[in-house]
Amino acid sequence: MHTVNGLHHVTAIAGPAQENLNFYAGVLGMRLVKKSVNQDDPGTYHLFYADADGHPGTDLTFFPWAQMAPSRDGYGLGSEVSLAVPPDSLDFWLERLQGEGVTISPIESRFGQPALPLRDPHGLRVTLVESPDSLRRSFTPWNRSPIPEKYQIRGLESARMVERDLVRTTSFLTGAMGFVHLGTENGWHRYGVGEGKSGAYIDLYENPTAGRGAWGTGSIHHLAWRVGDAAHQMEVRTRVLEGGSRPTPVIDRFWFKSVYFPEPGGVLFELATEGPGFAVDEDPAHLGESLVLPPWLEPERTDIEAALPRLTPPRI
Ligand code: ZN
Repeated sequence: MHTVNGLHHVTAIAGPAQENLNFYAGVLGMRLVKKSVNQDDPGTYHLFYADADGHPGTDLTFFPWAQMAPSRDGYGLGSEVSLAVPPDSLDFWLERLQGEGVTISPIESRFGQPALPLRDPHGLRVTLVESPDSLRRSFTPWNRSPIPEKYQIRGLESARMVERDLVRTTSFLTGAMGFVHLGTENGWHRYGVGEGKSGAYIDLYENPTAGRGAWGTGSIHHLAWRVGDAAHQMEVRTRVLEGGSRPTPVIDRFWFKSVYFPEPGGVLFELATEGPGFAVDEDPAHLGESLVLPPWLEPERTDIEAALPRLTPPRI
């Protein structure tokens, strides 16, 4: 079976956009590789943070909906995103995050990997995981990051999801999407594709008494999985359909093509193609510096720009 290739991006909901930018670019040192708008709600930014080249699999994106209520924990939601950092870098990160006043939890071990859980300014659970495998991933350091290259975030490591009925989701993951069970620890069930290396696995927790989680500031909106090209995308889309979910038609997001569907437990998934990538409509040296709009919104640029909050580069 042709499985997905791993995580493509994770999208979450933030509060005010400037605070989001200050944290992910200023504190965590990721590159803002695309400044666009939510294509379904153009009065809201869509901000993309990644490595310097915006490699698929390095990308954490946000809809800053400042007026939205906080999210509600529960089943059917992604509950945490983890980011890969190089081995022996958590001491650096601990000191940096403490210095910046970030809410952190003690370093813990997850399947043998040291992990530093934190909360972003709007409550999103983010964990930095020391990941030896991440050193072999496609990665371009960001030379204007406040973080020294040897400590920089190398991409998405994984995500966590809470389910009311574990088997419904794991049957779908193994059947329609080609995941395999990699292990269980402290109630977390790890499933991955391929060898389940950095960026190619997910952790699930079953909570039969949980209420339905709800989107809001601080929640994950969806998890996007990488597919190589349009043919690969259609192959997986067909299996998703046969597996009982209802995928959307292919939607052109310009930097990739997307298909969306809920997994059986309710978490929104996406299949996103690896290309063409973020340099398709901007000079790679100046990614993220100006507002990029899809062609059908260009005639409304003046009104859209007037409605969006002005963003200034983060303090570095
Ligand atoms: Zn997406």
